[in-house]
Amino acid sequence: MRHSSGIWAYQLLFPMVDHLFPDPRFLLYPQSMEFKILDLEREPVEFDLELKPGAIDFGDEAEQMGNLATSGGAEVIHEHRGPKEIVPDIRLRGRFAGQFQVPCARCIEPVEIPLEAEFDLIFRPIGADSEPPERSITASETEIGYYQKDSLLLEDVLREQVLLSLPVRTLCKPDCKGLCPRCGANRNTQPCSCEVGPSDPRWEALTGLRSRIKS
Ligand SMILES: [Zn+2]
Ligand SMILES: [Zn+2]
Repeated sequence: MRHSSGIWAYQLLFPMVDHLFPDPRFLLYPQSMEFKILDLEREPVEFDLELKPGAIDFGDEAEQMGNLATSGGAEVIHEHRGPKEIVPDIRLRGRFAGQFQVPCARCIEPVEIPLEAEFDLIFRPIGADSEPPERSITASETEIGYYQKDSLLLEDVLREQVLLSLPVRTLCKPDCKGLCPRCGANRNTQPCSCEVGPSDPRWEALTGLRSRIKS
């Protein structure tokens, strides 16, 4: 009999201690989720998790607000490179969805945005490629990464996927006035007495261009 994916992931993480937890559906990401090649060789693994804020460090670029939902599956794909060389790749497919805060590109005030994306990734054992992966292998939409020490951490993958899904430029509002380049005041909330620059539309266009190049 097949368990639901959430329970299955849970039992994979805690084969010995599941009596400690009354109901795995209430379990919120207790520790890292690791896909071990040895486990995957036996059977594909499915996951369906809610990650608490702080479970993944997104650095300065984004802050997770509330739980990050993620689900998907991992399996081994044996890449036959020759009569004797078989490379055990991990294919990880899934999706995530959550609320995040990112700094406004002009005034750096936090802006809350929803992020969600699907991913379909291949991870090779590190060292399996003496040269960078050939383009021909990645002709599909599948991307190639690498795993170390016979396992892949879900949070490492999610960190990268969340950061990749960030919009290039987020504004708190379309007409955000940004920070004063002289005194640093937030011009949306704090009119400052610094000299006002030329309000020529051509100058505005140039400013916009410059900030696009920067970001
Ligand atoms: Zn702003
Ligand atoms: Zn100023």
